[in-house]
Amino acid sequence: MTEPLLTNEKEAGALIQDILPAKLDNAYRCVKPEKKSRVAVFRADGILVREGEEIAFPSWEEFAAACGERGQKPPESVWLFAVGEDSYVLCGEPGERSMERLAAAGYAFRRVRELRGVHPKERLLAAVTAWHLYVWYRDHRYCGRCGGALSHDKKQRMLFCPSCGNQVYPRISPAVIVGVTDGERLLMTKYAGREYKRYALIAGFTEIGETAEETVRREVREETGLSVKNIRYYKSQPWGFDGNLLLGYFCELDGSDAVTLDEEELASAEWVHWSEIPDNVEGLSLTNEMMEYFRENRKAEKNRKFS
Ligand SMILES: [Zn+2]
Repeated sequence: MTEPLLTNEKEAGALIQDILPAKLDNAYRCVKPEKKSRVAVFRADGILVREGEEIAFPSWEEFAAACGERGQKPPESVWLFAVGEDSYVLCGEPGERSMERLAAAGYAFRRVRELRGVHPKERLLAAVTAWHLYVWYRDHRYCGRCGGALSHDKKQRMLFCPSCGNQVYPRISPAVIVGVTDGERLLMTKYAGREYKRYALIAGFTEIGETAEETVRREVREETGLSVKNIRYYKSQPWGFDGNLLLGYFCELDGSDAVTLDEEELASAEWVHWSEIPDNVEGLSLTNEMMEYFRENRKAEKNRKFS
């Protein structure tokens, strides 16, 4: 059996990055914030937001006012990106008094991982992308080569070391998501020991020296003991929660369907008939879309056969 039969553009609009008509413009600009710029502030794994029907970030005007008493300056800001009309800047955490004022205006830290499902989606994408950049900035304050303090480049998103010239670019980790198919069945998994309890697909990081297709073969073999063939690219997704670029692939079972579970990674891996794949309740992740895509693809195939 071969796929895809449906175009993978059909489900456009379901993923975290699908925010049309808005667009994420990630071009770096060395500019000062404007009054209406949105401010991303993090503490541990939380981002400062005000929740309501829609989630909101403090404006620069609000943030600077909360920070600016008694001649104090607000923490230094770094340009992040624009989403539609809104520009975003990253700021360090202000002092306790400033935080109290922001809290009085309804702002509180909320875990980035718990934001899945908030509206509107372009602000979720902004929060998660800001988190990805925040983690990178947080973890790259000093040069890994000589230990000197890193400086911000003025033209592009890059940190450089004035002492030794080392250049440091944002870190994006490629990983694969794999839909292993066997005729009308899809291999669906559940993770061991993780927050995420719903069905998932085989997934894993690409290692150095490896192609994405080799990652697909290796991860499937390591996690389930299965062999696969006809590996085909589906589509990709930025996943700032973990700093990833996720690459989705479908492939077919080659040989025995008996699973040998890697119990450190997975709680379960089972063959699920397309008609039993549950509905996507979240509409954000490539994993969910690939499950739905497989189901709809097989359903369409069946309808063609009987029409
Ligand atoms: Zn250096």
